[in-house]
Amino acid sequence: MRGCSEISVWTACLLVTLLGCDEPAPRVSAEAELQVASSTTAQTATVAAEAGPKRPTDPFYANLHHLKVSIRSSLEASVVAGTNATLGPALTQVAKRVLVWWIDPNRDLYPGDELELVYSTPNGVEPAVHAIWFRSEKLGRSFEAVHFVPSGALHPRWFDPEGREIELRLKDGPIREYEQITSILKDGRGHKGVDFKAPTGTPVYAPFDGRVERKNWSLRGNGLALDLAELRSGRRALLLHLSAIVKGLRPGSRVKKGQLIAYSGNTGRSTAPHLHYQLQRSLHGKVIDPFDFHRTWRARLPDSEMPALRERLIKYSKLRESVT
Ligand SMILES: [Zn+2]
Repeated sequence: MRGCSEISVWTACLLVTLLGCDEPAPRVSAEAELQVASSTTAQTATVAAEAGPKRPTDPFYANLHHLKVSIRSSLEASVVAGTNATLGPALTQVAKRVLVWWIDPNRDLYPGDELELVYSTPNGVEPAVHAIWFRSEKLGRSFEAVHFVPSGALHPRWFDPEGREIELRLKDGPIREYEQITSILKDGRGHKGVDFKAPTGTPVYAPFDGRVERKNWSLRGNGLALDLAELRSGRRALLLHLSAIVKGLRPGSRVKKGQLIAYSGNTGRSTAPHLHYQLQRSLHGKVIDPFDFHRTWRARLPDSEMPALRERLIKYSKLRESVT
């Protein structure tokens, strides 16, 4: 018998991974008139490359677009109004992966909040966002983040202007190298796990001392998967969409915290390579937020990287100035 927990795991995972999935119900009135900031018209984002009077001519800016919206309805509706119905939902999803570290998008968005993005559309599928500025009315403060590749790093990551990473990291989490966290429990989607976008074949480690309870129990949805039980508490950790499981691991096998147990992948109901990590109190027990269970920390750029980060931020900021 397939338990509903497994079904909901992959259904939610699919929803989160797909672009343009439903935007959660907005907190601000849907009837409120949607206004796009006066400095930005519905065409601005798409014609920005045609150069306003002050737009920089450096080739660096050739494929970059700037969008500034004032939130009057839902976040997605505001972004759609500033771009179009095709690009808007995808751009919203990408921007929200950063916003969720600052606010609860379902509760903290207020009329008058301002969102600014510098973005490009490199492959026509998923837009790339390079810098984000967000002004929260509720919190009375502004946030700023830039997508930056530290020297020697495989992937860009999001940093604030002081070089602190925007995303929290899990101490003793199941994956160390990943591109981005694309879903957290607090992002309001009802998804039960944390999704780590990572290339297929990225090592996955045991998050605690435990025992393998199940392996590949619902292949169609979960793909290759492991279900671990923590020895002392009985807590369960589900690791889904794996590309491979370390040879010899089977139900009953003991694992030590930090032990290599598998490799991330894109198996089962998954539309992009990622690791789904889900914690529960027991087999059918309450879902636990990994960011509550694990100790967390924030990485910080070394001083040697700061000039490059600041230079990048200044470059993107010039695009803001050129359309205001
Ligand atoms: Zn997931």
